[in-house]
Amino acid sequence: MNEIFSTCSMYDLVIVGGGIVGCATARELIMRHPNMKIAITEKENALAMHQTGHNSGVVHAGIYYTPGSMKAKLCVEGLKLSYEYFCKNNIPHKKIGKLIVAQNPAEVKSIDELFDKGMKNKVPDLQIIEKDCISKYEPKCKGEKALWSPWTGIVDWAVVCKSFAEDFQKMGGEIFLNFEVIGFTEMMESKGKSQLSPISVQSKNRVRFSSCIPTKYVLTCAGLHSDRLAVMTGCDVNPRIVPFRGEYLLLNDDKRHLCTTNVYPVPDPRFPFLGVHFTPRVSNEIWLGPNAVLAFAREGYSWFDINIKDCIEMAKFPGLYKLCYRYFLLGCREAIKSIFYPLTVKDLQKFIPEITYKDVKRGPAGVRAQALDKNGKLVDDFVFDGGTGVIGSRVLHCRNAPSPAATSSMAIAKFIADKLDRDFKF
Ligand SMILES: Cc1cc2nc3c(=O)[nH]c(=O)nc-3n(C[C@H](O)[C@H](O)[C@H](O)COP(=O)(O)OP(=O)(O)OC[C@H]3O[C@@H](n4cnc5c(N)ncnc54)[C@H](O)[C@@H]3O)c2cc1C
Repeated sequence: MNEIFSTCSMYDLVIVGGGIVGCATARELIMRHPNMKIAITEKENALAMHQTGHNSGVVHAGIYYTPGSMKAKLCVEGLKLSYEYFCKNNIPHKKIGKLIVAQNPAEVKSIDELFDKGMKNKVPDLQIIEKDCISKYEPKCKGEKALWSPWTGIVDWAVVCKSFAEDFQKMGGEIFLNFEVIGFTEMMESKGKSQLSPISVQSKNRVRFSSCIPTKYVLTCAGLHSDRLAVMTGCDVNPRIVPFRGEYLLLNDDKRHLCTTNVYPVPDPRFPFLGVHFTPRVSNEIWLGPNAVLAFAREGYSWFDINIKDCIEMAKFPGLYKLCYRYFLLGCREAIKSIFYPLTVKDLQKFIPEITYKDVKRGPAGVRAQALDKNGKLVDDFVFDGGTGVIGSRVLHCRNAPSPAATSSMAIAKFIADKLDRDFKF
């Protein structure tokens, strides 16, 4: 990675966050504007260290999302763009499909509703599968009815993110690692002179001789820290980010034959997450999960990761109490299953009865940046906003990019680039 930074460099745009949304957007913008000087700043010593590098690795087809929502539109568009990109750039992926399997009469009804939603979202080639035919798609799977999505696939999203970053660098973009942004200030010499770079992006770390980068515009794609970055530019503190850990189990190597495609439950409509599912990986592992438990740190990948600052912030946020009150039982159930994981295996046995708790072990985890409004309502769709004043009016924040934002990343990049072209007249 290029870490050479000249103090006199002036940037047209600084993108904060080296996850898949930041890298995809950087690539899109430099392709559109080859003469623009663009930099990505990332606080870690590598790209894709958080959500982008800790997820299920599914290329979603766009079934679940409210028709007309940004999630629905950008997922279906992102799916097509992603497969084109994987093929052009030799990125290992497999279009292994996905079964959403109903286990009771209420879920059978939901399968029909999901099919209708998928059709409205223009998800390609969806098919309803009757009970007796489920085993043709997943030989060991049992259920009452299923929805088959042949376009759902698997990929390592961290590999995709790094490939976007390489494209960006080849076209002249710069990436500064170990550069945690801690604030934005107005540059004194730019006051009243709109042609200069009026924003200084501040860090406590130094890149070469400087801990600030002068720029005309800023885009933040900071995932688990998106609300903090927004507050730094004078934007509203809401929606707040609350971290929800998703833990996976791993299927033992000698049982991998039990699962050949993505097998998902019918999602609980009260909850934003898709439920514990079976996901083959491009590495040939089989991951079972993720669950959803409140994390005690924004980057809390285990029960033992506790960050006092994050906990105090959560404790002061009334929206979280409202959320906990609403989902108290569900939350307790998830926590108990997280600690006693054979209980999760019981849920999985409904789909593939041959699996026993001896066939699994604890696996990796990811942390979802879940945006919550001040009333404790989970924000479902992607959210972008900016502010006012010298700094606020030159900043765009990507405040909520939950799943399927990896699948949608190339479409989100186009959406953001269009918005920046329009609002900032690039
Ligand atoms: C458990 C789990 C399973 C998922 N499964 C899927 C799936 O199967 N398919 C799918 O499409 N999506 C999935 N997702 C969602 C997907 O991973 C995310 O939506 C996507 O990765 C978000 O990308 P991002 O760039 O916004 O955030 P991130 O990848 O979190 O990147 C944000 C970056 O900003 C950096 N940063 C933060 N603050 C600062 C700062 N102050 N200064 C500098 N840098 C900063 C961070 O270090 C980080 O690298 C899943 C997510 C999780 C957690």
